[in-house]
Amino acid sequence: MIPLPEPYRVKMIEPIRLLAAGERRARLAEAGYNTFLLRSEDVYIDLLTDSGTNAMSDAQWSALMRGDEAYAGSRSFEALQAAVRDVYGFPYIVPTHQGRGAEHLLSRSWIRPGQLVPGNMYFTTTRLHQELAGGTFQDVICEEAYEPSREAPFKGNVDLGKLSALVERHGAEKIAYVAVGAPVNMAGGQPVSLGNLEQVWRFCQARGIRVVLDGARAVENAYFIQQREPGCSKMSVARILREMCLRADACLVSAKKDLYVNIGGFLATRDRGLYEKAMNLCVVYEGLHTYGGLAGRDLEAMAVGAREMVQDDWIAHRVGQVRALGERLRELGVPIVKPIGGHGVFLDARAFLPHLSQDELPAQSLAAWLYEECGVRAMERGVVSSGRGPDGRHRYPKLELVRLTLPRRVYSDAQLAFVAEGVGRLFKRRAELPGLRFVSEPELLRFFQSRFEPLPVAARA
Ligand SMILES: *Cc1c(COP(=O)(O)O)cnc(C)c1O
Repeated sequence: MIPLPEPYRVKMIEPIRLLAAGERRARLAEAGYNTFLLRSEDVYIDLLTDSGTNAMSDAQWSALMRGDEAYAGSRSFEALQAAVRDVYGFPYIVPTHQGRGAEHLLSRSWIRPGQLVPGNMYFTTTRLHQELAGGTFQDVICEEAYEPSREAPFKGNVDLGKLSALVERHGAEKIAYVAVGAPVNMAGGQPVSLGNLEQVWRFCQARGIRVVLDGARAVENAYFIQQREPGCSKMSVARILREMCLRADACLVSAKKDLYVNIGGFLATRDRGLYEKAMNLCVVYEGLHTYGGLAGRDLEAMAVGAREMVQDDWIAHRVGQVRALGERLRELGVPIVKPIGGHGVFLDARAFLPHLSQDELPAQSLAAWLYEECGVRAMERGVVSSGRGPDGRHRYPKLELVRLTLPRRVYSDAQLAFVAEGVGRLFKRRAELPGLRFVSEPELLRFFQSRFEPLPVAARA
């Protein structure tokens, strides 16, 4: 299927180059086979993440010049607050340097040690902040989410049965809040339906439990609702986003995703108590509550991005480009997570490299060999990202994925065709690809900084 043409044209370019195969091999070894440790200069097409890697619009670039850099009471904060009120519908906002800053403020405000935090699949930084605040994450996502090849429209949905069993067992007082990621990044960008959000909201309202929306890519979720949920096709994405937010007490936003900016985030809420607590913590960890660790110009660019992101043609093109890459890979027989997500195509590393056990780090290995093959940088989302549990052992996730993430408004379809070809070539010689093992491993969020080495061929019998 031919993707929708871009609803923009290019007026500034950034040169990139493909290193020779021998050089790529050397750079990969220098980076300890961890794509996070590669130099950007050595990457040809960078699909590590869509976080902070987006191209800003001319309107955003000019907004930078309007940034009010006052320490307190910045006009740019007021612009952002007005945009968040209009677009998300929450009256209170606390800006933070990025999404995890908001996670920190929320976790410290709403989790008491010993409490549980049910959510639809873990996210790396989110779960860590819950744990650092003394909470324990509990997965309540629907079972379909664990089956990469299963086609279902809303594989991000919360399983109400799992949630109510958990509340039944521990009592509502033991629940800090229910965290709903929409969409679910670690499941392959799978959306949550509006109907499911409504069910979760009603269930929690009836029991006095609060609901938090992780809105890192909520606009993509809103688009999938428009496309897939019965009765929603006539609603604009902007309207659906507000409907989603009406079913939560608070929302965490990494502005580096939907809002097209290079840095920024915020906590938005309708709960006055949370607002006051988070605003106070903000001055300790982020900066004054009217800049939250950001420059005034960043706030200004976020305010513009918040209004751009909900335009139907923008989001349709964005998700359409991801789908086109996924369709190409599917035609080549490459195993990917289905349905194709909104921010990237997720390779199913277990199916791609069936000769590797999970201890041989299939997703980490696949991401490494992909860079070596064609200079394309992807991200591991498997056992390395999942980390170790309190007992010090690996937390073996059911999904072992490699994410090819598309920054917004950055790459052309010709570049993505090159990516698909590279993945296709690698798939043809998959049987010869070795696994990796850890050489070094930091304590927290190990996927960012661990180093690896290829397993000797003998160990792969
Ligand atoms: C990116 C992300 C976060 C954290 O945001 P940062 O801006 O990277 O700190 C939280 N949740 C999800 C689902 C994300 O994708």
